[in-house]
Amino acid sequence: MELERQLLRDVGRAIADHDLIQDGDRILVAMSGGKDSYGLLVLLRTLQRRAPVDFDLLAVHLDQGHPGYDGAPLQRWLENEGVAFRILREDTYSIVIDKIPAGKTYCSLCSRLRRGILYQAAADLGCNKIALGHHRDDTLETALLNLFFAGKLSAMPPRLTSDDGRHVVIRPLIYCAETQLAALAEARRFPILPCNLCGSQAEAQRKQMKALLAQLERSNPTLRQSMLAALGNVVPTHLLDRDLQRVAAAAAAQSSAAAHSSAPPALLQIALPRRSP
Ligand code: SF4
Repeated sequence: MELERQLLRDVGRAIADHDLIQDGDRILVAMSGGKDSYGLLVLLRTLQRRAPVDFDLLAVHLDQGHPGYDGAPLQRWLENEGVAFRILREDTYSIVIDKIPAGKTYCSLCSRLRRGILYQAAADLGCNKIALGHHRDDTLETALLNLFFAGKLSAMPPRLTSDDGRHVVIRPLIYCAETQLAALAEARRFPILPCNLCGSQAEAQRKQMKALLAQLERSNPTLRQSMLAALGNVVPTHLLDRDLQRVAAAAAAQSSAAAHSSAPPALLQIALPRRSP
């Protein structure tokens, strides 16, 4: 179907642009049971059949001990699809409600705990990469959140190596529109697990960013494409970050020296300061 073709094109482009998958990779696909995680798995499986490189996929779902949780529909779907999978059980819910004061959102601690468990699972299960289902609109909302509330220009990286170098996190859906992933979930009738069992509300600020994007998009239909393009089209000399300006100046000096030298051009090696993701 055309929708699936478009999504596959976006995923293929993200994989090629950011070198997300190589021959011999064994990729842990994080399955939350939400629409995006089903889409991620289905699209990666289709690409796996067509790709010129060999890679393995292992779907991993984490039962976090939320009250009323029922992972049976997801498990049945994975079995019916013939997907290799593991279901892990870790009661992060009790930790989160113990540590977070009433009325505050749980998401930040909950995600950190989940990330740690997935990292460990990837090591235990022999996976060298972890694929997450964040899409274009997640990254745009994160960029706005960082700009408006955290005082930094930063979004979600399509590929990130952990500080200890042991894990590579990839986001193959980074170019995919959430509306298209929702349409795929509906067309394929994915058995989506409810995401409100934890009792936490989505962060109010993220909701605001979502609403702001939707509002601006009414007068500028290409807003999201333009914002996504901007994330890949940074002009360091026109920002106020002195570290970045030093790097840009060093790069310019190296290029100029290489252009005036008769020796073969040296590989440009610029040490960017380490930033947190
Ligand atoms: S919505 Fe609930 S399960 Fe999801 S990250 Fe937030 S606290 Fe965790």
